[in-house]
Amino acid sequence: MSCLICAGHAEAIDCPAGWEGRRCLKCGCYHMSQKLILTMMDEGQIFDACKMRQWLDMRRGVMPIPTIDVHEAILVV
Ligand SMILES: [Zn+2]
Repeated sequence: MSCLICAGHAEAIDCPAGWEGRRCLKCGCYHMSQKLILTMMDEGQIFDACKMRQWLDMRRGVMPIPTIDVHEAILVV
C-alpha cells in the first residue's frame, strides 16, 4: 500500500465508504475522498507533500484523523 500524498510506504486504515484511509510514516494518518483521488488521476495532478503535511499537522489540532477532500488538496503547480 502506498501513501496517496507522497507515494511512500503506508498502511490502509479503516474509513467510511467513499473514502480511503492511510497511515504513512511521513504524512501520518488521514482520510482522503475517492472523488479527489479520481480527480487527481484524471488530471495527472500530484500533491505538494510538504505543504500537505503542514496542513495535516494543523488539522490534527481539531480532528485526530484529518479528512482531505477536493477543496483541501494542495497541489504542485
Ligand atoms: Zn506519505
